[in-house]
Amino acid sequence: MKLRNIRKTYHNRNNDVQALKGISLDLDTNGITVILGPSGCGKTTLMNIIAGRSDYEGTIENVPEYDYLTQQFNLFEDMTVVDNLLLVSDDMNDIDHYLNEFSLVDQKNRKVKKLSNGQKKRVQFIRALLHKPGLLLCDEPTAALDHDNAVLLMEEMKKLSDRIQIILVTHDILLSKQYADRIITMEQGVVIRDEIIHEKQESHAGNRMKKRNLKDTAVLSVKNMVSRLPHTCSQILLSTISIFSLFVFCNLYGNVSKQSNYSETFANGENMIVSVPQQTTSSAGENISGYRVKYTGMTTEDLFSYDEIVQAVKDHPQIIAVEAFNSRQYVSETDAYNDLEYQRMKMFDLNAYGAVSDDMSWAADRPVDSPVLIPSNSLSVTEAGERTYLYTELVKTSRIQVFDLANGYQDLPLICGSIPEDDSVIIDQNTADLIMKNEGYDSYEQLIGKTMILGTCYYRNQYEFTPQQLYEPIEVRIAAVAGIHNDLIRMVFFNKGIARNPLFATVVQDLQQVRLDYVRFIVQPGSDYAAIAESLDAFFHKPNVDVTVYQGKGLGKEHAFYKSPSGLLIYGIIVILIIGCMYIISEVFYRKRMIKEKNILHTYGYSPLMENILRTSMIMILSCILSAVIAGPAGNLINEFASKHYYQPFMSFSLPLLLIVSLCIGVFMTVLERIIAGR
Ligand code: ADP
Ligand code: MG
Repeated sequence: MKLRNIRKTYHNRNNDVQALKGISLDLDTNGITVILGPSGCGKTTLMNIIAGRSDYEGTIENVPEYDYLTQQFNLFEDMTVVDNLLLVSDDMNDIDHYLNEFSLVDQKNRKVKKLSNGQKKRVQFIRALLHKPGLLLCDEPTAALDHDNAVLLMEEMKKLSDRIQIILVTHDILLSKQYADRIITMEQGVVIRDEIIHEKQESHAGNRMKKRNLKDTAVLSVKNMVSRLPHTCSQILLSTISIFSLFVFCNLYGNVSKQSNYSETFANGENMIVSVPQQTTSSAGENISGYRVKYTGMTTEDLFSYDEIVQAVKDHPQIIAVEAFNSRQYVSETDAYNDLEYQRMKMFDLNAYGAVSDDMSWAADRPVDSPVLIPSNSLSVTEAGERTYLYTELVKTSRIQVFDLANGYQDLPLICGSIPEDDSVIIDQNTADLIMKNEGYDSYEQLIGKTMILGTCYYRNQYEFTPQQLYEPIEVRIAAVAGIHNDLIRMVFFNKGIARNPLFATVVQDLQQVRLDYVRFIVQPGSDYAAIAESLDAFFHKPNVDVTVYQGKGLGKEHAFYKSPSGLLIYGIIVILIIGCMYIISEVFYRKRMIKEKNILHTYGYSPLMENILRTSMIMILSCILSAVIAGPAGNLINEFASKHYYQPFMSFSLPLLLIVSLCIGVFMTVLERIIAGR
């Protein structure tokens, strides 16, 4: 080994310390070379440079395979003596032989940190013997030893030095005189004397440490983790908290954004597709080709049939719901114009639901304790407890539109309750708000299970009906409230398929006979509305009618059901900062140990990076499983909270999300450890 003009300057905050000022040495013979010098003259610095643990100026050539007995003990303190030795050699006979020779048999299965300094020194020395390097660097090897142990160690070194080169740093002149084959004296960063005491053979390169494979590294990682179980557990706990918090954040952010988009589009009516006549001049009651048609310019071909609508829904999976055919309906004039059924159908009008007529006989007899909810302020209770029904202007204007959910559609943004399977309904938030106001409820939950009356009314004199011809209103149970807010209409959803709701069935006997001049489709929020409208328009192909996106006026931002999800980002950033800080603190806390262990691994053929990745992966896998286990009940708690505050469920379990979050944290941990422990 040739050292040429080695210089080292430590840059401290206040001053620069020139620890080595140009050292040139040829170190190429077996035997013990002692580097002697007072404390602070740069001996340790020189050893660290030879061992590749410090940067320097100058050149070093032909460094043989070496082992380094540092002043501090570079051992895995939490692992047992034998595990530390197994790191280097698999040969148990060899290990037992040396343990015996150095009187460490009884300590074999004790943790290194429980040993005395002398014992640790010996373990380190045995490890070096097992390693069989060409060069052994020892920094103050006897410093921590009592006389007997120091002599034992030096005698062993002396024996060993016949075969290999030993460079030994000490300030102990007596010791060097006794054992040295060459003494190099240093002072203040320079060599002042170099004397050869015994000529020795030329040294050799030594036994190259074999590169360790994945399996060896994995075994070591497991041993390492198990050896400090409390620390490993706290790491798993920290990782679990991190994975879980990030998982919750991503979940919250995703779901709240989605719901906020939902409420925005529902509120603005963008997701409503309607049929619009090209000419809208009203001329009610016009008679075209056997059907009575409202708009000029429309012909029989412009009317929509039941079959067409069913087919359109089938062809467009983005359709959530169709207006329950409660717009104007027509039957062939020849057989039905003067028929009572036809008259009922006409009455079954756009303006029909949710209002009550001034014939209140059907409702007046109800007992007070039966929840009668009429979605208007037409109902009031007198002081005597009687129910009276007021026919007010508001009754006329608070129209309710009935929709049929497309078959199997389950993804309406519900605030509370669930998609109904029977004749019960989902009401939108507008309707729910109105009922709450009228009936004095203070939460949406109170509405679930309550009865609502869907009645028909008419504008007096618009058609020539007498009140007696009014159809019997029907009672429906409220199964859910949807987070839909629309100033256009109040909405009630049945979940019985297109035109299969009981209300419709009470009016229309023969679906094939029905013709509509107006249809409304609600499509999934966030869809390409224009494209769907275009496709529907092409499908219906009505000469004088366009099927187009409803240009909603919108409720304005102040009505947005969900506050801006970007507020959640602050929560996210705080979570990430806290997690980051916790990791950085814990890694900085263990920095010294990490560096030490990394050096050991490097010396004995292990890849510190591989060990780091394997260890982190194992911690992440365990933490990921733990997170998955707590995600269930915790998610339920959060969803319960959300539901109490009229939000949709915030949490939905997603394995890919959990895995991605774990991976990110794992990569972060690994990179952080690499940065903090140095490359
Ligand atoms: P020795 O081992 O001979 O006692 P060192 O090599 O440890 O001496 O130190 C040589 C000089 O370099 C001393 O003045 C010491 O204070 C300084 N020194 C050693 N290590 C550092 C360091 N990491 N940062 C700054 N100065 C250091
Ligand atoms: Mg020193």
